[in-house]
Amino acid sequence: MTDYSKMEPWQWPEAHWRGLVNHVRAGRTYKPKSWKGGARCAFALSFDSDHETNELRDGGKSVGRMAWGQYGNRVGVPMILNLLKKYDVPATFFVPAVAALLHPDEQRRVVAEGHEIGLHSWIHELNSVLSYDDERNIMMRSADTLEKVTGVRVVGSRTASWDFSPHTLRITKEMGLAYDTSLMADIDCYELLLDGEPTGVVELPVEWIRDDAPYFMMLRFQNLRPYTPPEGVFDIFRREFEAAYEEGGIFQLTCHPHMIGYRSRIWIIEELIRLAKAKGDVWFATHADVAAFARDNAAD
Ligand SMILES: [Zn+2]
Repeated sequence: MTDYSKMEPWQWPEAHWRGLVNHVRAGRTYKPKSWKGGARCAFALSFDSDHETNELRDGGKSVGRMAWGQYGNRVGVPMILNLLKKYDVPATFFVPAVAALLHPDEQRRVVAEGHEIGLHSWIHELNSVLSYDDERNIMMRSADTLEKVTGVRVVGSRTASWDFSPHTLRITKEMGLAYDTSLMADIDCYELLLDGEPTGVVELPVEWIRDDAPYFMMLRFQNLRPYTPPEGVFDIFRREFEAAYEEGGIFQLTCHPHMIGYRSRIWIIEELIRLAKAKGDVWFATHADVAAFARDNAAD
Protein backbone atom coordinates (compact mmCIF):
# COMPACT_ATOMS: atom_id res chain seq x y z
CA MET A 1 0.00 0.00 0.00
CA THR A 2 1.23 3.48 -0.84
CA ASP A 3 2.31 5.50 2.18
CA TYR A 4 0.91 8.90 1.29
CA SER A 5 2.43 10.50 4.40
CA LYS A 6 5.86 10.02 2.81
CA MET A 7 4.76 11.86 -0.32
CA GLU A 8 4.44 15.59 -0.87
CA PRO A 9 0.81 16.66 -1.41
CA TRP A 10 1.66 17.73 -4.98
CA GLN A 11 2.72 14.12 -5.63
CA TRP A 12 -0.60 12.63 -4.50
CA PRO A 13 -2.66 10.92 -7.17
CA GLU A 14 -6.09 12.41 -7.85
CA ALA A 15 -7.93 9.53 -6.19
CA HIS A 16 -6.12 10.28 -2.93
CA TRP A 17 -6.87 14.01 -2.68
CA ARG A 18 -10.41 13.45 -3.87
CA GLY A 19 -10.84 10.80 -1.17
CA LEU A 20 -9.61 13.17 1.54
CA VAL A 21 -11.98 15.92 0.43
CA ASN A 22 -15.00 13.67 -0.03
CA HIS A 23 -14.68 11.64 3.19
CA VAL A 24 -17.06 13.89 5.18
CA ARG A 25 -19.16 16.20 3.05
CA ALA A 26 -22.32 18.30 3.10
CA GLY A 27 -25.26 16.56 1.43
CA ARG A 28 -28.81 17.87 1.11
CA THR A 29 -29.73 21.17 2.71
CA TYR A 30 -32.34 21.12 5.45
CA LYS A 31 -34.01 24.51 5.22
CA PRO A 32 -37.68 24.78 6.18
CA LYS A 33 -39.95 27.38 4.52
CA SER A 34 -40.68 28.72 7.98
CA TRP A 35 -39.72 27.73 11.50
CA LYS A 36 -41.83 26.39 14.34
CA GLY A 37 -45.11 28.24 14.75
CA GLY A 38 -44.52 30.09 11.47
CA ALA A 39 -41.45 31.89 12.84
CA ARG A 40 -39.21 33.56 10.31
CA CYS A 41 -35.87 32.79 11.94
CA ALA A 42 -34.40 30.27 14.38
CA PHE A 43 -32.25 31.61 17.21
CA ALA A 44 -29.92 28.99 18.73
CA LEU A 45 -27.53 29.94 21.51
CA SER A 46 -24.84 27.53 22.69
CA PHE A 47 -22.40 27.70 25.56
CA ASP A 48 -19.39 25.42 25.84
CA SER A 49 -18.85 24.83 29.56
CA ASP A 50 -15.23 23.70 29.26
CA HIS A 51 -14.18 25.06 32.66
CA GLU A 52 -10.98 23.38 33.94
CA THR A 53 -10.72 20.95 31.01
CA ASN A 54 -9.09 23.56 28.79
CA GLU A 55 -6.08 23.34 31.09
CA LEU A 56 -6.29 19.60 31.78
CA ARG A 57 -6.48 18.54 28.13
CA ASP A 58 -2.97 19.85 27.47
CA GLY A 59 -1.65 18.15 30.59
CA GLY A 60 -1.45 21.53 32.35
CA LYS A 61 -1.41 21.97 36.12
CA SER A 62 -1.63 25.76 36.36
CA VAL A 63 -3.52 26.78 39.49
CA GLY A 64 -4.25 30.13 37.89
CA ARG A 65 -5.86 28.56 34.84
CA MET A 66 -7.82 26.13 37.05
CA ALA A 67 -9.17 29.22 38.85
CA TRP A 68 -10.22 30.64 35.48
CA GLY A 69 -12.05 27.39 34.83
CA GLN A 70 -13.72 27.60 38.23
CA TYR A 71 -14.86 31.13 37.38
CA GLY A 72 -16.80 29.62 34.49
CA ASN A 73 -18.70 27.46 36.98
CA ARG A 74 -19.05 29.93 39.86
CA VAL A 75 -19.83 33.11 37.92
CA GLY A 76 -20.05 32.52 34.16
CA VAL A 77 -22.73 29.82 33.98
CA PRO A 78 -24.98 31.36 36.70
CA MET A 79 -24.75 34.75 34.93
CA ILE A 80 -25.79 33.11 31.65
CA LEU A 81 -28.58 31.05 33.24
CA ASN A 82 -30.00 34.12 34.99
CA LEU A 83 -30.05 36.01 31.70
CA LEU A 84 -31.73 33.13 29.85
CA LYS A 85 -34.33 32.87 32.61
CA LYS A 86 -35.03 36.62 32.49
CA TYR A 87 -36.00 36.35 28.80
CA ASP A 88 -37.27 32.75 28.89
CA VAL A 89 -34.82 31.65 26.20
CA PRO A 90 -33.65 28.01 25.91
CA ALA A 91 -30.05 27.22 24.99
CA THR A 92 -27.68 24.30 24.58
CA PHE A 93 -24.69 23.71 26.83
CA PHE A 94 -21.91 21.47 25.49
CA VAL A 95 -20.07 19.92 28.42
CA PRO A 96 -16.94 17.76 28.58
CA ALA A 97 -17.67 14.72 30.79
CA VAL A 98 -14.88 15.71 33.20
CA ALA A 99 -16.42 19.18 33.62
CA ALA A 100 -19.77 17.50 34.35
CA LEU A 101 -18.14 15.28 36.99
CA LEU A 102 -16.40 18.31 38.55
CA HIS A 103 -19.62 20.37 38.54
CA PRO A 104 -22.61 18.00 38.60
CA ASP A 105 -24.93 20.52 40.31
CA GLU A 106 -24.35 22.97 37.49
CA GLN A 107 -25.44 20.41 34.88
CA ARG A 108 -28.52 19.47 36.88
CA ARG A 109 -29.50 23.13 37.15
CA VAL A 110 -28.99 23.62 33.39
CA VAL A 111 -31.32 20.70 32.64
CA ALA A 112 -33.84 21.67 35.33
CA GLU A 113 -34.13 25.14 33.77
CA GLY A 114 -35.14 23.66 30.43
CA HIS A 115 -31.87 23.76 28.53
CA GLU A 116 -30.17 21.02 26.54
CA ILE A 117 -26.84 19.41 27.40
CA GLY A 118 -24.79 18.03 24.51
CA LEU A 119 -21.70 15.88 24.19
CA HIS A 120 -18.39 17.76 24.18
CA SER A 121 -15.59 15.18 24.60
CA TRP A 122 -14.20 13.63 27.80
CA ILE A 123 -11.51 16.09 28.87
CA HIS A 124 -11.55 18.42 25.84
CA GLU A 125 -9.16 16.09 24.00
CA LEU A 126 -8.58 16.57 20.30
CA ASN A 127 -10.19 13.82 18.23
CA SER A 128 -7.75 14.02 15.35
CA VAL A 129 -4.93 12.43 17.36
CA LEU A 130 -7.03 9.45 18.53
CA SER A 131 -7.44 5.96 17.08
CA TYR A 132 -10.94 4.87 16.08
CA ASP A 133 -11.20 2.61 19.16
CA ASP A 134 -10.05 5.29 21.60
CA GLU A 135 -12.33 7.95 20.13
CA ARG A 136 -15.31 5.57 20.14
CA ASN A 137 -14.71 4.51 23.76
CA ILE A 138 -14.32 8.12 24.86
CA MET A 139 -17.49 9.30 23.12
CA MET A 140 -19.51 6.39 24.59
CA ARG A 141 -18.07 6.92 28.06
CA SER A 142 -18.73 10.65 27.88
CA ALA A 143 -22.36 10.16 26.80
CA ASP A 144 -22.90 7.63 29.63
CA THR A 145 -21.31 10.01 32.15
CA LEU A 146 -23.50 12.96 31.12
CA GLU A 147 -26.57 10.74 31.34
CA LYS A 148 -25.57 9.57 34.82
CA VAL A 149 -25.12 13.17 35.98
CA THR A 150 -28.21 14.72 34.35
CA GLY A 151 -30.59 11.79 33.86
CA VAL A 152 -30.95 12.77 30.19
CA ARG A 153 -29.36 11.01 27.20
CA VAL A 154 -27.59 13.38 24.81
CA VAL A 155 -28.83 13.57 21.20
CA GLY A 156 -26.14 15.82 19.78
CA SER A 157 -22.42 16.42 19.85
CA ARG A 158 -19.88 19.18 19.45
CA THR A 159 -16.30 18.00 19.15
CA ALA A 160 -13.83 19.83 21.42
CA SER A 161 -12.24 22.73 19.53
CA TRP A 162 -14.41 21.60 16.56
CA ASP A 163 -11.67 19.06 15.91
CA PHE A 164 -13.30 16.40 13.74
CA SER A 165 -11.30 13.23 13.06
CA PRO A 166 -11.71 10.91 10.06
CA HIS A 167 -13.64 8.61 12.46
CA THR A 168 -15.90 11.13 14.20
CA LEU A 169 -18.84 10.95 11.82
CA ARG A 170 -18.84 7.14 11.71
CA ILE A 171 -18.92 7.03 15.52
CA THR A 172 -21.60 9.74 15.69
CA LYS A 173 -23.77 7.62 13.41
CA GLU A 174 -23.03 4.41 15.33
CA MET A 175 -24.10 6.11 18.54
CA GLY A 176 -27.39 7.11 16.96
CA LEU A 177 -26.87 10.80 17.61
CA ALA A 178 -29.31 13.03 15.75
CA TYR A 179 -26.96 15.91 15.07
CA ASP A 180 -23.46 17.28 15.17
CA THR A 181 -22.49 20.93 15.50
CA SER A 182 -18.77 21.20 14.77
CA LEU A 183 -18.54 21.80 11.01
CA MET A 184 -19.08 24.78 8.76
CA ALA A 185 -19.94 23.83 5.19
CA ASP A 186 -23.13 25.95 5.10
CA ILE A 187 -25.24 28.52 6.94
CA ASP A 188 -28.29 26.22 6.97
CA CYS A 189 -28.58 22.75 8.45
CA TYR A 190 -27.52 19.91 6.16
CA GLU A 191 -27.16 16.14 6.08
CA LEU A 192 -23.66 14.77 6.57
CA LEU A 193 -22.36 12.37 3.94
CA LEU A 194 -19.75 9.75 4.81
CA ASP A 195 -17.74 8.74 1.72
CA GLY A 196 -20.64 9.94 -0.41
CA GLU A 197 -23.34 8.04 1.50
CA PRO A 198 -26.11 9.83 3.46
CA THR A 199 -25.76 9.22 7.22
CA GLY A 200 -29.01 10.69 8.55
CA VAL A 201 -26.90 12.86 10.88
CA VAL A 202 -27.86 16.55 10.74
CA GLU A 203 -25.14 19.17 10.86
CA LEU A 204 -26.08 22.45 12.57
CA PRO A 205 -23.19 24.53 11.25
CA VAL A 206 -20.94 26.67 13.43
CA GLU A 207 -18.50 29.42 12.46
CA TRP A 208 -15.47 31.05 14.12
CA ILE A 209 -17.13 34.36 13.23
CA ARG A 210 -20.05 33.45 15.52
CA ASP A 211 -17.82 32.31 18.39
CA ASP A 212 -16.64 34.51 21.28
CA ALA A 213 -13.27 32.73 21.63
CA PRO A 214 -11.45 34.19 18.60
CA TYR A 215 -12.34 37.71 19.77
CA PHE A 216 -11.91 37.39 23.52
CA MET A 217 -9.32 34.65 24.15
CA MET A 218 -6.28 35.70 26.17
CA LEU A 219 -3.14 33.76 27.11
CA ARG A 220 -0.70 35.45 29.47
CA PHE A 221 2.46 33.73 28.23
CA GLN A 222 1.61 33.71 24.55
CA ASN A 223 1.01 36.56 22.20
CA LEU A 224 -2.73 36.01 22.26
CA ARG A 225 -4.84 39.00 23.34
CA PRO A 226 -8.43 40.10 22.76
CA TYR A 227 -8.31 42.31 19.68
CA THR A 228 -11.94 43.22 19.11
CA PRO A 229 -13.80 45.46 21.57
CA PRO A 230 -17.14 44.14 22.89
CA GLU A 231 -18.99 46.72 20.74
CA GLY A 232 -17.24 45.30 17.67
CA VAL A 233 -18.13 41.73 18.58
CA PHE A 234 -21.75 42.76 19.15
CA ASP A 235 -21.81 44.45 15.74
CA ILE A 236 -20.59 41.27 14.01
CA PHE A 237 -23.10 39.06 15.85
CA ARG A 238 -25.93 41.57 15.22
CA ARG A 239 -25.25 41.60 11.48
CA GLU A 240 -25.17 37.80 11.47
CA PHE A 241 -28.56 37.78 13.20
CA GLU A 242 -30.15 40.50 11.02
CA ALA A 243 -29.13 38.69 7.81
CA ALA A 244 -30.29 35.32 9.14
CA TYR A 245 -33.63 36.94 9.96
CA GLU A 246 -33.94 38.51 6.50
CA GLU A 247 -33.15 35.16 4.84
CA GLY A 248 -35.37 33.07 7.10
CA GLY A 249 -32.37 31.13 8.34
CA ILE A 250 -30.66 30.26 11.61
CA PHE A 251 -28.77 32.51 13.94
CA GLN A 252 -26.40 30.12 15.74
CA LEU A 253 -23.89 31.36 18.32
CA THR A 254 -21.10 29.65 20.30
CA CYS A 255 -19.95 31.24 23.56
CA HIS A 256 -17.91 30.16 26.58
CA PRO A 257 -18.86 30.94 30.19
CA HIS A 258 -15.25 31.94 31.00
CA MET A 259 -15.14 34.34 28.04
CA ILE A 260 -18.60 35.91 27.75
CA GLY A 261 -19.54 35.65 31.45
CA TYR A 262 -18.23 39.09 32.47
CA ARG A 263 -19.99 42.33 33.37
CA SER A 264 -18.48 44.10 30.37
CA ARG A 265 -19.45 41.38 27.88
CA ILE A 266 -22.66 39.58 28.90
CA TRP A 267 -24.70 42.53 27.58
CA ILE A 268 -23.84 41.34 24.05
CA ILE A 269 -26.06 38.28 24.54
CA GLU A 270 -28.78 40.34 26.24
CA GLU A 271 -28.89 42.88 23.39
CA LEU A 272 -29.08 40.10 20.80
CA ILE A 273 -31.99 38.48 22.65
CA ARG A 274 -33.77 41.84 22.93
CA LEU A 275 -33.28 42.53 19.22
CA ALA A 276 -34.63 39.10 18.32
CA LYS A 277 -37.58 39.40 20.73
CA ALA A 278 -38.47 42.78 19.24
CA LYS A 279 -38.94 41.15 15.81
CA GLY A 280 -41.86 39.17 17.19
CA ASP A 281 -41.43 36.14 14.94
CA VAL A 282 -38.15 34.55 16.01
CA TRP A 283 -38.11 30.99 17.35
CA PHE A 284 -35.73 30.56 20.29
CA ALA A 285 -34.71 26.92 20.50
CA THR A 286 -32.08 24.43 21.57
CA HIS A 287 -29.71 23.00 18.99
CA ALA A 288 -31.53 19.65 19.21
CA ASP A 289 -34.88 21.27 18.42
CA VAL A 290 -33.51 23.36 15.55
CA ALA A 291 -31.72 20.37 13.97
CA ALA A 292 -34.80 18.12 14.27
CA PHE A 293 -37.20 20.78 12.96
CA ALA A 294 -34.92 21.58 10.00
CA ARG A 295 -34.62 17.88 9.10
CA ASP A 296 -38.34 17.13 9.45
CA ASN A 297 -39.58 20.26 7.62
CA ALA A 298 -36.97 20.76 4.89
CA ALA A 299 -38.54 22.50 1.89
CA ASP A 300 -36.98 19.91 -0.50
ZN1 LIG B 1 -14.91 23.41 24.30
